[in-house]
Amino acid sequence: MNNRLYGNLIFELSQEGRRGYSLPRNNFGAYPIPQELCRQTEAALPECDELTVVRHYTNLSNNNFGVDTGFYPLGSCTMKYNPKINEEVAAMPQFQNLHPMQPAQTVRGAQAVIALLGRSLSELTGLPHFTFKPYAGAHGELTGLMTIDSYHREQGDLTRKKVIVPDSAHGTNPASAAVCGLEIVEVKSLADGTVDVEDLRRIVSEQGPQIAAMMMTNPNTLGLFETHIPEIAELIHGCGALMYYDGANLNPMLGACRPGDMGFDVMHVNLHKTFSTPHGGGGPGAGPVGVREGLQHLLPAVSPYHGNFGVMMRAYAYILSLGRDHVKEVGALATLNANYIKESLKDVYELPIDTLCCHEFVFDGLKDKSTGVTTMDVAKRLLDYGYHAPTIYFPLLFHESLMIEPTENESKETLDEFIAVMRQIADEAQTNPDLLKTAPHTTPIGRVDDVLAAKQPIVTYKQMSNGNN
Ligand SMILES: *Cc1c(COP(=O)(O)O)cnc(C)c1O
Repeated sequence: MNNRLYGNLIFELSQEGRRGYSLPRNNFGAYPIPQELCRQTEAALPECDELTVVRHYTNLSNNNFGVDTGFYPLGSCTMKYNPKINEEVAAMPQFQNLHPMQPAQTVRGAQAVIALLGRSLSELTGLPHFTFKPYAGAHGELTGLMTIDSYHREQGDLTRKKVIVPDSAHGTNPASAAVCGLEIVEVKSLADGTVDVEDLRRIVSEQGPQIAAMMMTNPNTLGLFETHIPEIAELIHGCGALMYYDGANLNPMLGACRPGDMGFDVMHVNLHKTFSTPHGGGGPGAGPVGVREGLQHLLPAVSPYHGNFGVMMRAYAYILSLGRDHVKEVGALATLNANYIKESLKDVYELPIDTLCCHEFVFDGLKDKSTGVTTMDVAKRLLDYGYHAPTIYFPLLFHESLMIEPTENESKETLDEFIAVMRQIADEAQTNPDLLKTAPHTTPIGRVDDVLAAKQPIVTYKQMSNGNN
């Protein structure tokens, strides 16, 4: 690898006077810019030849890791393959070039897509009304909780300001409740990973009239199907509160069962996860919210216009390309793949909850704790073997959480290779733990100081001098 072009900022490659462009001939004459709008000093732009620029950005792009370059078993994130046809559909100029201020009669096609996608989601979730305004899952949670808050106000019930959240919940659940001005009450999990109904019963009997909603993720963040939902829904509805379904884990449920049928009143769907929009690196997303009959007039306007339309196009293309029959295979295959990996590794990795999982599962680090090798070390070593690491240290229920979600698209060969590497790493922990403690060894940057990076992030580049530095 050419060091000069690798890992540097484009500013560091600058050579005074070097040019990488030539402007086309000016056929329009000169239009002087008013003096007060002109810069006082020249902009400190990098000066590079074209080939340097091309190599610089191509090398940077080669450092990217994505679903298209390798296996990406990041638990709770559903990093599934995003079929290219979705991109083609989303890029159709008739849709891509629409302007949100266009007269309604000129955007009937886009309106039809939104309506048809809404109908598909209603069929898949059992909730009849959807808003597409939320930009992400967390934004959907906030939208849903605002809807629930409005519902209680409409009932003249101003005392319901508490939201019950399981201790296994994704961090966005309590965060969204807090942003919505609601108070969080945590309900415990049982040793088998599901919600402790007795603890819930206690909470409801003590604080029932103050409870606004219960938030549940199903399958939960341990990848386990919550089996007591009918009982929980009865308890919650019995005290006058509503049931919220965090649908970020809808993937394994697709076509198998529906939150609306289980007694949930409000839910969000992560289109970018379950319905395949590339979302590594934080975007774009869409977190449409569905509600049961009688709540639709309470849905708030949480974004201008119609939300992230490109993500909706991808989701609709994905649903249509699978069709009614094949959409049912998504959940079954995601579940099969997760269980296959779990069963193939549980003799060397600690499996605290040893049952059938859905789309993902959680190890509690290596089985042999005597080597001192941590989940962090395993995750870093995986990078050396060309894998994206699983989610680590979440959920918080275990000390050494390692959360693996393979998704449905991966071939058996890919899963077998991953299993072999995970077993190899378990071996290395025995024979050469230092190799793991100092991993990764093959990435451009080795192990970073997490604490320093979090506490003193350097997010700007300081120009040393104007131009040549
Ligand atoms: C991903 C996820 C969220 C948050 O979704 P974003 O789109 O990242 O805001 C919420 N809950 C669960 C269970 C998730 O996996």
